[in-house]
Amino acid sequence: MLILILPISGNARIWKSVNGTEIEGTVFEVKGERVGLRINGRDYHFLISRFQKSDQLYLQKWSSEKRCASCAGKITEGFREADGLKYHKQCFRCLVSRKTFEGGDGLAKDLWGGLVHLDHLGRVSTCDTCNRFFRREDAESKQFFPDGRMSCKICFNDGIFDRQKLYQVRERVLPTLRGVGMEISADLIRIELVDRAFLDREALRIKAGGKLRGLTLTKYKITRGSNFTNTDFEHRIYLLYGLPYVECISVLAHEYAHVWLNERFIESTPLEIEGFCNLVSEICLAQDKTKIASILRENMIQSENPIYGMGFRKMRSKLKAIGWNGLLAEMLAKASPP
Ligand SMILES: [Zn+2]
Ligand SMILES: [Zn+2]
Ligand SMILES: [Zn+2]
Repeated sequence: MLILILPISGNARIWKSVNGTEIEGTVFEVKGERVGLRINGRDYHFLISRFQKSDQLYLQKWSSEKRCASCAGKITEGFREADGLKYHKQCFRCLVSRKTFEGGDGLAKDLWGGLVHLDHLGRVSTCDTCNRFFRREDAESKQFFPDGRMSCKICFNDGIFDRQKLYQVRERVLPTLRGVGMEISADLIRIELVDRAFLDREALRIKAGGKLRGLTLTKYKITRGSNFTNTDFEHRIYLLYGLPYVECISVLAHEYAHVWLNERFIESTPLEIEGFCNLVSEICLAQDKTKIASILRENMIQSENPIYGMGFRKMRSKLKAIGWNGLLAEMLAKASPP
């Protein structure tokens, strides 16, 4: 009989924020100025400064202790080390073969503590959203989308597959946009959930490149009379179906930003336009405290993409200098209505 003794990864405790609110959760990581807390089985990231002094002291002590990079439990005796990270001997195992790694074994690591032998990499899939490794044989077939995308179980369960869920996403995005001064007439905008092939085809038609997750098409009609000019817009937003809630928030925010720009006939380089839209997306992500939101933000901040990544960083430094009012005014100055 095999008895697996799982280390206790710390007990849930009550965390008090500086403004008095309380949450119950277990620490699973401390990274820079952020703490990862597991609350009801879900991983969140919070700024450490959000918590009261006693909690901050607890975290100081927590992170000064030797911790397992897989389970976050305290390491009291022997441990294994790889890539500068320490693991409990019993945690240092491949998620495919369940065997512990021996000296000299090549291994790959995801962002969630998952480890796998390089030789077994062919038997895991990586979630398109959160980059988590999952064993293919444990997954359900629905996690593999017909268009080639794949979702871990957690992201799949959070997926937006219908209109009702989509409206919840919309209701999360609009107030944030309004908060920085961008009003969107969302009722007039058609949103369609589509697959990758459809999106790629539409993108190709307007010569947009890259691995898109959303696309906005705007048509307009101008009616001129002797003493009036009327512009009617027709927007259509295409979003990939099945994106997890948080990712859908970020993509929809980006597309709404395109709508805002299009309705004002604001034209600029793709670098500035996409950078601006990503900036709008990022403020929505920043409001969500899940670890997935911070991974998506991190991907955006560090993206090597010459348009989306560079553009985002350019617009973000501009935002830091002149604030939202200044930035919107600067964009509005680029408007050139026909
Ligand atoms: Zn461990
Ligand atoms: Zn995932
Ligand atoms: Zn865009």
